[in-house]
Amino acid sequence: MTLDPQTIGMMTAILALFMAAMLALTHLHRRQSLGVGHWAIGEFSFGLGLIFNLSASSPWLTNVVGPILACSGMATLIAGLLVFKRKNINWLWFAAYIASVTIIAILSGVFFPNQAVRTFLLSLMFAIAAGYGAKLMLVKVEPPLRMPYWLTGCFFLCIVLAMVSRAVFAVSSGASFLPYAPSLVNQFSLGLLCISFLVISYSFLLMMHFRMAMDLEKLASIDSLTGALTRRSLGEQAARIAKRRGNHSIGIIMLDIDFFKAINDRYGHQAGDKVLQHLSATAQAVLRGVDFFSRVGGEEFCALLTDSDENMTAIVAERIRDACAKSHVTYRGQRILYTTSAGVSSGNPAESTFEKMIGEADQALYLAKSAGRNRVVRWSNFQEMVDTETFTKAQIPDQHYSFTASNFRSPDDPEY
Ligand code: GH3
Ligand code: MG
Ligand code: MG
Repeated sequence: MTLDPQTIGMMTAILALFMAAMLALTHLHRRQSLGVGHWAIGEFSFGLGLIFNLSASSPWLTNVVGPILACSGMATLIAGLLVFKRKNINWLWFAAYIASVTIIAILSGVFFPNQAVRTFLLSLMFAIAAGYGAKLMLVKVEPPLRMPYWLTGCFFLCIVLAMVSRAVFAVSSGASFLPYAPSLVNQFSLGLLCISFLVISYSFLLMMHFRMAMDLEKLASIDSLTGALTRRSLGEQAARIAKRRGNHSIGIIMLDIDFFKAINDRYGHQAGDKVLQHLSATAQAVLRGVDFFSRVGGEEFCALLTDSDENMTAIVAERIRDACAKSHVTYRGQRILYTTSAGVSSGNPAESTFEKMIGEADQALYLAKSAGRNRVVRWSNFQEMVDTETFTKAQIPDQHYSFTASNFRSPDDPEY
């Protein structure tokens, strides 16, 4: 089987134009997808440049416009990668690169025509851009983006290999070099370029697809008002922890804003929303990076503390309660004070289920509410003290609580 390099070149060009059309349609369909527009333009420019280069119509089209379009296309693909990675494009470098390609193409293509020198220099320029692309992609990145990142990076390296071997072959052949003659190096370099473009274009679509899936997952796992995790997402994290940490205790804090309805009634729903955001930010500032904080209901939140026993969890809950009680929310010039009540439980995920721990923390929260609010109650205290059926506030002396309120403000308080 003999592969004609000219045919391989034309196939690569058609493939690039086809991929450009696919990417352009994807971009039009979903404009917020980062980098896709750049990739479409890059593939189009590269494909068109290759066709001009192959056409052998006039020295300007073949030797100048063709290579400039092909190299600009490659540079635009790299710009798309930067956009995808939310990095800035250095337009100065971009312009300097295109200017260098233009100068090389004009000098070696029209004024001092030399196929070998032109192919040598332009192949190296193309390899430099591809090498930068590989550097951008072969980095530490979390799955699922890792696979398309590394795939793209490896095939950018293949382009570097193809172009360097083409450059070396061109200078070593000297005056006898013909860019599309049926030699082994031409077949190898153009064949590798063709395959690499196919894989890279496919990887671009994969990258976009995985980014979209990750965005959707994030949307489903984060509460848009407070930035806390959703209930579903907390459950998933709890299941993951239960699988991983055999013998480590986890702590649960059920947190509820006191008399939140009164805040809504007095200041309005928007003010209530600000209080929810304030509580979420306050609690997340107290918690560690390894803990999880979730909004499980209207004004109810749940914190999951990894590697924490009940004592530790109660201390953290008290810190959150205290931080909320000592701060305030400013809404339209008004100071809104609010307090929270918390129920605390803990357990070993290997022995107890997450739902059971939540239920226990919830019962402790119920007790905190009944006992006057703005306080933290532990499940173990709750067990020791009361039978919930017969519980009344009067029956439970304050010292039985882990923490008692010193600065509780009722809605009747003028500052509330
Ligand atoms: P308690 O101290 O017993 O917890 O009393 P509470 O008023 O905080 O509790 P209740 O369950 O009576 O009221 C909760 C209120 O939370 C009722 C609902 O209108 C309000 N709410 C739920 N979701 C939101 C929200 O997203 N934004 C605002 N502003 N209010 C909300
Ligand atoms: Mg409440
Ligand atoms: Mg509630």
